[in-house]
Amino acid sequence: AKDAGGARWELYDAERDTREKARRALSAAIPTGLERGEFYLDYQPLTSLQDGSLLGVEALVRWRHPQLGVLRPDRFIGLAEETGLIVPLGGWVLAEACREAVGWSAATAQPPYVSVNLAVRQVRRPDLVQEVRALLRRTGLPPDRLQLEITESTMMSGAEEPIRTLRALADLGVRIAIDDFGTGYSNLAYLRDLPVTELKVAGEFVRGLRAPEAADERILASLVSLAHALNLTVTAEGVETGGQAERLRAIGCDAAQGWHFGRPAPAVNILARVKGGAPC
Ligand code: C2E
Ligand code: CA
Ligand code: CA
Repeated sequence: AKDAGGARWELYDAERDTREKARRALSAAIPTGLERGEFYLDYQPLTSLQDGSLLGVEALVRWRHPQLGVLRPDRFIGLAEETGLIVPLGGWVLAEACREAVGWSAATAQPPYVSVNLAVRQVRRPDLVQEVRALLRRTGLPPDRLQLEITESTMMSGAEEPIRTLRALADLGVRIAIDDFGTGYSNLAYLRDLPVTELKVAGEFVRGLRAPEAADERILASLVSLAHALNLTVTAEGVETGGQAERLRAIGCDAAQGWHFGRPAPAVNILARVKGGAPC
């Protein structure tokens, strides 16, 4: 029995080794993927719960890998964060999102803002503010048409640096959202001190929205009133059903994102729907 256990461990080690090699290979392919234009952005609608209009879209990166096919971010964002490659990759996402978003002004009278995810490493870089300022100037995108999504852990990393960076970004006039709100540390003091404009409440609270007065509904209702008291808007993530959307609207939640309102898709598809006047 002991021997068999030993063999299992060897197998396990070998497997882990193979997986580790595959991860390293994937990571090493990121810079060439960037050079060869293998990355692209899908966008997902952020829809007003009051009137159904398209307020914004979130940019979600995808990798058309020559051997592995289209990869979702869960496959490579973590890797890119570990290796630091998130800095060039995230920089590309930011630039591409602004470049595409500028074109939407001509497509619709009320062009949506574009919301871009920022990794901790990006926010820690002292030249991020300069990068964003240059990007806005180069593309001509109005600052309030750009939203940056940061996570609670970025805020809670303890350092003064990210806070100063966020203030400078807010001074440029860009919107700042806290992503996956409610899943991380629950220190709310930073909401008072930070130039945040929006809370994106994690989908796990939305999933619990079945019966009225369920615990998750009470949590969401108090989050919404807290946010509104601080002059923040609230977007609920992961909204998959009309029933959830209705509960959220009743609670006073401002906006929603999720399959019920539209899956991530190329920008042209989302804008075509706005132009066509179809409800999102
Ligand atoms: P996230 O920022 O929370 O983005 C929302 C994710 O939820 C997206 O997955 C989206 O497709 C998915 N989603 C949307 N609606 C629904 C729904 O109704 N139900 C369910 N179950 N899921 C829904 P995606 O595109 O695979 O992205 C996963 C994560 O990868 C993102 O989570 C974000 O943390 C990260 N990510 C994506 N793009 C970037 C990027 O450019 N930079 C960085 N740093 N992270 C990124
Ligand atoms: Ca996000
Ligand atoms: Ca999120």
